[in-house]
Amino acid sequence: MSDGHEHPVALSVDGQPALFPTLPYKMHDRAEAFMHDEQIQRFVNQATLNRNANRQATAHEVFGDKHSDLRALAGSIKQHTLDHLDHYIEQFIDNATAAGVQVHFAKDAKEANAICVEIARQEKSTACVKSKSMVTEETHLLPELEAIGVDVLETDLGEFILQIDGDAPSHIVTPMIHKDRIAVAKAFQRELGARYTEDPAELTMIAREHLREKFRQADLGISGGNFLVAETGSIVLCTNEGNGRLCTTVPRVHVAFVGIEKLVPTYEHLTVLLKLLARTSTAQPLTVYTHVLTGPKRAPEHDGPEKMHIILIDNGRTNILRDTEYREALRCIRCGACLNACPVYRKVTGHAYGAVYSGPIGAVITPLFKGLENYKDLPGATSLCGACYEACPVKINLPEMLIKLRRDMLAGKAVGRMEKLAYKMGAIGLKGPLMYSIGGWFQRVGLRLLADKDGYVRKGPSLLKNWTSQRDLPAPAAQNFRTWWKQYKRK
Ligand code: SF4
Repeated sequence: MSDGHEHPVALSVDGQPALFPTLPYKMHDRAEAFMHDEQIQRFVNQATLNRNANRQATAHEVFGDKHSDLRALAGSIKQHTLDHLDHYIEQFIDNATAAGVQVHFAKDAKEANAICVEIARQEKSTACVKSKSMVTEETHLLPELEAIGVDVLETDLGEFILQIDGDAPSHIVTPMIHKDRIAVAKAFQRELGARYTEDPAELTMIAREHLREKFRQADLGISGGNFLVAETGSIVLCTNEGNGRLCTTVPRVHVAFVGIEKLVPTYEHLTVLLKLLARTSTAQPLTVYTHVLTGPKRAPEHDGPEKMHIILIDNGRTNILRDTEYREALRCIRCGACLNACPVYRKVTGHAYGAVYSGPIGAVITPLFKGLENYKDLPGATSLCGACYEACPVKINLPEMLIKLRRDMLAGKAVGRMEKLAYKMGAIGLKGPLMYSIGGWFQRVGLRLLADKDGYVRKGPSLLKNWTSQRDLPAPAAQNFRTWWKQYKRK
């Protein structure tokens, strides 16, 4: 499928969205292709800069100098829950079960999908409506349900457009950040037979009409979950379009896919996180809809599903939990603020990360979930400017973790011998003034030898190649600053 605006790199493998790339993984190649696409660059740049500016303004306006304290409180709530996760999981399961929910535990993506497929089979489901869920992207659920004949429809507007356009999300909150209204108009005309219009209100109505009937027909609803409240066994969904409510209340059966790290102990703790989530994510006081779902419908209620299942998903989370150095990464409430603040994300866009989670949080958790050796480019996808840390509502020290991942990479097999040697030499060179000036001399002479007559290195060898494939590197001056300064003073 095409929107007339060709994607610079293939987004699909064997007809399936290439959520996880074929190995060996090369972020550089994917990034390079997107960086030459000015249209995508413009959309992503505008959207992320606006979001980031709005977040900063709202935080300042609403919280003033209390903002940092509130972030610290939110971080400590999540950290406490993670440090005692076994206790809160048990509490959640007991309370959710008492409310009539069937709670399942899946150790990995395969198991989570198999549980959902089995539920769909038992319920003889044929039509499913689904609200936005990054975890189902992570487990790659849709093809599994479609393989047993269940027609699955994404109902979040952004996800719906991506689904009919054969594309994948490129941002954890705004999945189609890389598309504009023209691409949407073309997709609706081509796939839904709709009249061509670029008016956002009309486009929304076209989607609404198409989706409304599907909600009525669906016998299975699938959702994610922003939070799980241990004290009541409730699942909390934060949405802006109302599709979450329809997915979870209209079909006979509701299945929620939620990562185990989404737990909070009580409603009191939840309010702190809700206060920050929407403000940090979209600069709203609250998301338009905040649903708290506690079990299926009970007599004499008329609305709600007859059956409710919650699949608690591990899929690598307990491995991160075991490692106290990286446990903090599981505090993430998926607000997307670190993506909006990141100059690297802005430049390379979400698809370049080649994984479900992109941006700074993706660069940390993807190698932790999927193996550092498979995603060794990601810890390097940062300028270490600290903007992500400043933006994060739960104070995850993302830059520090990216440095730790680089350290682990050097200690393991993810990096080749030549690269290790280069880093080691760099470290030696930075340790003392003598080695620094010797290293500097070699670098200066080497680069000047590689430079052309205009004084630029345009095709660097080995590690330099990645730099010079994007921009020309000016050759260093004939003498360094120290030498020049000494001569200047003498004069
Ligand atoms: S790491 Fe922090 S800023 Fe980034 S998505 Fe998670 S909570 Fe938001």
